[in-house]
Amino acid sequence: MFADLHMHTTFSDGTFSPEEMAQAAHRHQLACVALTDHDTVAGCARMAAECARLGIEFVQATELTGEVDGVEVHILGYFLDPTDAHFLSNLVKFQRARQQRIHEMAARLQAQGIPLQAEAVFAIAKCESPGRPHVARALVQAGLCGSMDEAFERFLKKHRPAWVPKFKISAYEAIELIHHAGGVAVIAHPALNKSDDIIPPLVEAGIDGIECFHTRHSTAASQHYLLLAEHYGLAITGGSDCHGMNKGRPLMGGIKLPVIHVRQLEARARAIREKTLAAA
Ligand code: AMP
Ligand code: ZN
Ligand code: FE
Ligand code: FE
Repeated sequence: MFADLHMHTTFSDGTFSPEEMAQAAHRHQLACVALTDHDTVAGCARMAAECARLGIEFVQATELTGEVDGVEVHILGYFLDPTDAHFLSNLVKFQRARQQRIHEMAARLQAQGIPLQAEAVFAIAKCESPGRPHVARALVQAGLCGSMDEAFERFLKKHRPAWVPKFKISAYEAIELIHHAGGVAVIAHPALNKSDDIIPPLVEAGIDGIECFHTRHSTAASQHYLLLAEHYGLAITGGSDCHGMNKGRPLMGGIKLPVIHVRQLEARARAIREKTLAAA
């Protein structure tokens, strides 16, 4: 019995619909999946329905972009209430910032003599949480770049002409928002962060878990974060970060987290909700 707790659909920067993602999980014989679209839970209802049809456990989730001391850190939220009004109004704020960033990237491209309109990006993204992969796809579709890689290399990578820094909230605020919505907060792909120095302050701020297993983690990195999880008493999670075809190939099936970790994560979420109820 295995889980994959990290993936993105067409509701953010993935290329599979929620139904296609659930079907891919089914082909890989996963027992449990979590949808972690960036700054949205809008795809969760559809994926939950398809998972129910296929006999797969579904976990409501999202991935937020935070920062600690200027260092970007992605915070995953699991078992949160997708109807929590305070949480949803914050997601809308993050989505607006993403849309504004697309306008800024289009303006920068135009300043480089590349005639790409923000509307062309939105027409491709067709979602509330657009990102750089949508800009890259729009550049390719308009014949302005030969490939998505070329689009990133020439324009979109950090410090390239059309790069615009991403809107980030404080990681502490991200943890708080997730807890407020009854969920657990998890540090995403820690080996991709600049350093482990951000982990102690996140523990101090009440982070609940750490993504020890991830497609881009080496075996040694996973081992290292398993030891840190033990040291700090954090729940262990893992996920493929599948983006459909956006990362060259679907990454689904590459991470198989024993479901016991999902049960432990769920127990922590229950404890958070009980604490919140008791305080109210
Ligand atoms: P954003 O969140 O809008 O800054 O975009 C980040 C996304 O762009 C991540 O999902 C990356 O995997 C993706 N990305 C970064 N570099 C490339 C690349 N060369 N080709 C395709 N996708 C990329
Ligand atoms: Zn993504
Ligand atoms: Fe991430
Ligand atoms: Fe992700």
